Parts: sequence; structure tokens; C-alpha cells
Amino acid sequence: MLKPPYRDTPDLRQAIIDACRDMNRRGINQGTSGNISARADGRMIITPSGVPYDRMTPDMLVSMPLDGQGEPEGPLPPSTEWQFHLALLRAKPDMNAIVHAHPVHCTALSINREEIPACHYMIALFGGNTVPLAGYALFGSEDLANNVVAAMRGRHGCLMANHGAVVAGETLEKGLWRLEELEVLARAYILSRSIGKPHILSESEIESVLGAVQNYGLKST
Ligand code: 13P
Ligand code: ZN
Repeated sequence: MLKPPYRDTPDLRQAIIDACRDMNRRGINQGTSGNISARADGRMIITPSGVPYDRMTPDMLVSMPLDGQGEPEGPLPPSTEWQFHLALLRAKPDMNAIVHAHPVHCTALSINREEIPACHYMIALFGGNTVPLAGYALFGSEDLANNVVAAMRGRHGCLMANHGAVVAGETLEKGLWRLEELEVLARAYILSRSIGKPHILSESEIESVLGAVQNYGLKST
């Protein structure tokens, strides 16, 4: 298991590809939707745009300077969403991976333009008492990047209106874990609404979870 600070090695690039394949295998993304980036050697390593994950090889990934100065390096164009990946890695120095996907239940809520309230204590994994909703903008646009960065201020994840979800991870593994937990949360919230009226936890109840959750999380081997 690779540990940050990451280096831009073939192993890291393969770990990014494996994480992409894992998202689709776990049913939290489909097709060529979604994209993953990691911070390595002061740069961002990101998946190329529109390449099926089972055909992606380490040399196809794109390296971009984190300060936005200079050209991307790689044989293919970077993910269309490189702007929010770059902005999030810059805004969150403790996070080393950004994972974006179109998980169906997160997307359903985002289509209804809803955020996720504190319907379950695991909401605290996302840094507060809601998983916010980033406003709609064209995929791949600077406006979308601005909306995502604003929604994720003080948060580790958000829904994206009429689009999907994005999370930040301390590691690639934790990014994937957080995204899967977000989709489970969205699914449970939708189910609870279909059988009755969800009870929402209070701010003080979430406050105490936020303290306890600091040391909770996926243990890497
Ligand atoms: P890319 O293939 O360009 O990464 O785009 C997928 C996507 O999810 C756009 O929002
Ligand atoms: Zn997308």
C-alpha cells in the first residue's frame, strides 16, 4: 500500500488506475464517467479524459504543475475536470487524492438539488453536519470548479447539482472509502424517506461525533 507523500512512480499511476477500476467494480461509478487525481512531487497526477479504465495504462496519466503554471505533461489531454481537482488539492494540503464519480444515489439527490442532512452519524466523515450541494455549471468549466471549491470549504465531500459527487482523501484508499460511504449515506437517506420521515441528528449530536471520528477511519495495512 503506497503512503503519502506520494512520488510520481509507475506504482502510483497504477494505484490511481486500480482505484478507478475499483469504483466501477464496486458499483459507485460507470463507464468512463468520473476521474481521480493524486498529489505527487508537487504536481497533480490525473486520469486522462474519456479513456475506458480497463484500457488505461500508467503512461496515459497526465502530470500537471500544482501552481497551474506550465503545460500538462502526457500523451493525452487531462480529465475535463482538472480545474476542480487542481483547486481542491491546492485548497486542502492535508488531502492527497481527489475522487469524482457519478454514483446513482448521490446523483439522484443532486438532480433534486438536495444536500444530505445529518441523517446518520457517518455524515461526520465529510467534516460537518451536511454533505453540501455544489451549484450546477457545465462539466469541465471553471464555474463548476468554483462551485465545487466553495461547497467543499471545510468539508471532505459534496454532491454536484445534476451531475454526481466528489470527495477528498488523505490517501487514494481513503478517497475511495469516503466515496463509497457517501453513496451508502445517499442510498440510506433516500430509502428512509421512502418508508417514512427521517429523523435528523441535532448539531450537538453531530458535534460529538465530529470529535470521535477524528481517530476513526480506514486502517491501512
Ligand atoms: P473525463 O473523462 O474528462 O474525466 O470526464 C468524466 C466526467 O465525469 C466529467 O464530469
Ligand atoms: Zn463527472
